[in-house]
Amino acid sequence: MIVKHELPKLPYSYNALEPYIDAKTMEIHYTKHHQAYIDKLNAVLEKYPELQKKKVEDLLKNLNSVPEDIRTLVRNHGGGHLNHSLWWLTLKKDTKFSGDIAKSIVKKFSSFEEFKKQFSAAALGIFGSGWAWLVTDKKGNLTILTTPNQDSPICNGYNPILGIDMWEHSFYLKWGPNKQGYVESFFNIINWDQVNKNIKIIK
Ligand code: MN
Repeated sequence: MIVKHELPKLPYSYNALEPYIDAKTMEIHYTKHHQAYIDKLNAVLEKYPELQKKKVEDLLKNLNSVPEDIRTLVRNHGGGHLNHSLWWLTLKKDTKFSGDIAKSIVKKFSSFEEFKKQFSAAALGIFGSGWAWLVTDKKGNLTILTTPNQDSPICNGYNPILGIDMWEHSFYLKWGPNKQGYVESFFNIINWDQVNKNIKIIK
């Protein structure tokens, strides 16, 4: 049986994140960019039907067991699919910085402001396209890291719980070269309820 990866349903309308992320960017990002990663991943896996049944997480966690001739493509397009699936869910206006994640962030970074400063610096320090992440390691410790291109932190044994897409397709239409404005605005649309769920899934 051929199992195809599919675009997950967006749980809100394209304009839900205005004015921080505009509706047009959301529409293009979701229907064109994310869809393209999925289409390319499905095309790549056609050659290996046994891999079509696997979850994208499992492919990325075990990249070395993916045949070498498609490994980079799975890393790029599978990563793009997984990263964006996480991204949509972690965006929402007007949620409260609270719960386990708030306690863990304050414990690790001493304050929300310090976390914001370090996360923003990581995002703005990315050269070219990539993502900045808040992840947990195998022991459950919070860490900020960045990945180039569409690499997922799970390829390196980390669990992503929050990320920011630093590809120009995520912000250029509204923010132009003002990456700093985009990163600052991101803190208004973090879905802390979802991030709390993400940290619990890992435990
Ligand atoms: Mn993107």
